[in-house]
Amino acid sequence: MIKKIIILIIIFVGVILGTYLYLDKSTSKKEAAKKTSQKTTEVVNEANKTSKGYTIQVKDGVTYIDDVLIVNKTYSLPEDYGNGLEKEVLDAFNLMKADAAALNLNIYISSGFRAFKAQENVYNKYVARDGKEAADTYSARPGFSEHQSGLSFDLNTINSSFTNTAEGKWVDSHCYLYGFIIRFPEGKEKETGYKYESWHLRYVGKDLAKKLYNEGDWQSLENYFGIESKYLD
Ligand SMILES: [Zn+2]
Repeated sequence: MIKKIIILIIIFVGVILGTYLYLDKSTSKKEAAKKTSQKTTEVVNEANKTSKGYTIQVKDGVTYIDDVLIVNKTYSLPEDYGNGLEKEVLDAFNLMKADAAALNLNIYISSGFRAFKAQENVYNKYVARDGKEAADTYSARPGFSEHQSGLSFDLNTINSSFTNTAEGKWVDSHCYLYGFIIRFPEGKEKETGYKYESWHLRYVGKDLAKKLYNEGDWQSLENYFGIESKYLD
């Protein structure tokens, strides 16, 4: 009889202990899962903000930061994106052109919208001539050119000789009034990924353009938003 009772007690204790161990394991599994999902959520949130806290959104493969379309060496456009300069951009340009003309300055668009395929041809031509490393400093890879966005264009002579012309100087200090920025400012090569281009304008709207104009000391879009411009390879 006593033997039977002892055996029953051992079985009872065994079952209790087993149950306890099982529950403990499954609880810690649940907690671990919870921790992982929290971690994932945090990472996603971080990825949606720039280093300066601006919101990054990707819609149909196009990146917007604080609702401003971004194209640089980090953020590209889909192959089929774009079909000409946006009307808002052309309207703003025509106002700027008319005001410049009143001062006897002649500004005109030499290169506006460039489709993915056209950029591919341009880029490949430069790579064949100067090599990839050199080409990357002045020509965008297909999909990474702002000319595909419909928000950018080159003015007049597309080289540094434009900088010190009367037109070049006027554009540098007045384009922000029409919503344009000098997209690749002087001395900001490390931020933008491109050499200074006095002739390449980008439309961002008057408010942001005024901030980036920065009383004449042009700030880059990259520095303003806290983003990079670097190819992955
Ligand atoms: Zn350009």
